[in-house]
Amino acid sequence: MRVLVLGGTAEARALAALLVAQGDDVESSLAGRVRNPALPAGRVRVGGFGGAPGLADHLTATRTDVLVDATHPFATRISANAAVAARAAGVPLVRLLRPGWRGHPLASGWHWVGDYDRARQAAEQLGGRPFLTTGRQTLPHFGSWVGRDVLVRVVEPLEQVPDGWSVLLDRGPYDVAGELALLRAEAVGVLLTKDSGGTYTAAKLEAAARAGVPVVIVERPALPDGVPSVEDAVQVQALLRRL
Ligand code: NAP
Repeated sequence: MRVLVLGGTAEARALAALLVAQGDDVESSLAGRVRNPALPAGRVRVGGFGGAPGLADHLTATRTDVLVDATHPFATRISANAAVAARAAGVPLVRLLRPGWRGHPLASGWHWVGDYDRARQAAEQLGGRPFLTTGRQTLPHFGSWVGRDVLVRVVEPLEQVPDGWSVLLDRGPYDVAGELALLRAEAVGVLLTKDSGGTYTAAKLEAAARAGVPVVIVERPALPDGVPSVEDAVQVQALLRRL
């Protein structure tokens, strides 16, 4: 079976490894945002397709049998494009979406908000030094914090560091002890995150509870309509066998 995996996540790499091991012809696609990405098993291509039409052309040209959207839960544009392109090319599409943190034992104590602007407002009301972990692309929503004392963690360096901000360059996985030490050493007053789900970056949530730091969390965007969704690589594998 020829499978195109839209990746950039640990789950996508797990899926590529599983499918390659059972002899499928797997191509993984990365956006090219990160300079030294962890590479999945099988073939890898890097860079945008040129919107849904470009992705549809790619599916047809490569005679792909199945498209798996295993991108990050907040990568909404590529997921929307995948739904349109799969329909246009007549290729079945499966969404691999890791479970969110709504079911986390601490979730009821967090401040859930619908978008990044509301996250900024909620953090301002809570007060204290913000620790921004919502990702580089979300930072324009926090432009009014230029000149404030803000800690931000990103995977890739920022082109320009806003006045007053301290930048931590790091990528998961993290552990609770390390996150707790960081929250304390940096005198964090409020943690801002988004409902990425999974275990890679979840340690900060437990650490925040232990340190008494409130958590502001952005809810997940909606899924494109009509796309079957499963939660892990093994479930995708089972679904592909049925297809
Ligand atoms: P996005 O906003 O949904 O997509 C923007 C554009 O980037 C797409 O229209 C597409 O360009 C290109 N693109 C995105 N993912 C691609 C992929 N896997 N392969 C080829 N092109 C891709 O995406 P994003 O939020 O920037 O995420 C980019 C990548 O980083 C994804 O692979 C995602 O899994 C990963 N990632 C994202 C986050 C996050 O918080 N958003 C966190 C961790 C990892 P064209 O229209 O030209 O095809």
